[in-house]
Amino acid sequence: MIYLDNAATTFIKPQAVTEAVMNCIRFECGNPGRGAHAISLAAAERIYACREALSDFFGVGAPERVIFTLNTTHALNLAIKGVLGYGDHALISELEHNAVRRPLYALAAQGVQFDVFPVVGLDTEAILRGIRERLTPKTAALITTHASNICSISLPIRAIGALCKEKGIRLIVDAAQSAGHLPIDLRDMQISALALPAHKALFGIQGCGALLLAEGMDPKPLLEGGSGVDSAPLVMPNEPPERYEAGTLPTPAIAGLLAGLNFVRSLGLDEIRRRTEALFLAARERLLSFRDLELYQADAVGSVLLFNHRQIPSTELARTLDREGIAVRAGLHCAPLAHRALGTPAGGAVRLGFSSLNTPEEIDALYSVLRRIV
Ligand code: PMP
Repeated sequence: MIYLDNAATTFIKPQAVTEAVMNCIRFECGNPGRGAHAISLAAAERIYACREALSDFFGVGAPERVIFTLNTTHALNLAIKGVLGYGDHALISELEHNAVRRPLYALAAQGVQFDVFPVVGLDTEAILRGIRERLTPKTAALITTHASNICSISLPIRAIGALCKEKGIRLIVDAAQSAGHLPIDLRDMQISALALPAHKALFGIQGCGALLLAEGMDPKPLLEGGSGVDSAPLVMPNEPPERYEAGTLPTPAIAGLLAGLNFVRSLGLDEIRRRTEALFLAARERLLSFRDLELYQADAVGSVLLFNHRQIPSTELARTLDREGIAVRAGLHCAPLAHRALGTPAGGAVRLGFSSLNTPEEIDALYSVLRRIV
């Protein structure tokens, strides 16, 4: 089977990740922070090591400001609902996933308003102009994806961060598609909160994500419950991470995330980029050789390539590819707004998501299978 659905989740994991998860379950999986015995302490130590590694890699500068969540969606909900309230205004990009749009839509019922700024086809200056034009005195947060989940457009986060800083607005970044692909430094880019998944390009397993909080970014907790410390009061502890981490953490998934992050660090983001861009360019060249295929925003080179056959609906093409042993994803990819911005038809399009563990031979095989189908 050839797996080209890495933008949804990476399926082929480095062996070190599988081993770390298994070792954790076998030897370290006490309840972290909920006991003083050796097995509980082993779990807590593994979790702290992962906090430190994430803090280091993403320029947070404070391991305790790394908050573990279930996934990116959970992290975004915590950041968005934790800072926006009645009367606030927010800005989002036109490339947002429903993980950003739906929490904001839910907040709209509570008196939060938001506007959408354009991105597709624009350079950094034009994107910043679009943001400036939509700012209001009530704008409290700008929430944006770093990299689209349906094409390889990425946003100029450093420039957006500088503008948000100048205007006193919080910047919440959805790094679902960029963590493990693009360099990110929270302090350097002036990001207030960064939401990321373990299970995509950081090669961890499902069940874990993280919200990284800058100094001064202290959203309201989304959940209340046991925190393992300070059990007597009826309110959550004041300090991160316990303030936000109610209930038992997914220790095996966190152990896997640490191993995945170490894999990414050892390969290096430059090498990861070199590999995924080479796969992208090879696939783009092959797809462009078909008269009946349409590609969307394919000048933006990266790890995601979106296309359609002019006569075959995207879901049917994906199903046929699956029967031939190639896993891709079709439809709207939980991002109907982004599909509209790219001009795909109502049925969406077919997405290829590359990982540094894919090979050029797999792109050759995709081409042969597509030729047969088309
Ligand atoms: N944002 C973007 C841009 C995504 O691609 C995804 C995953 N499809 C999410 C958010 C949600 O991620 P998760 O499944 O980890 O909640």
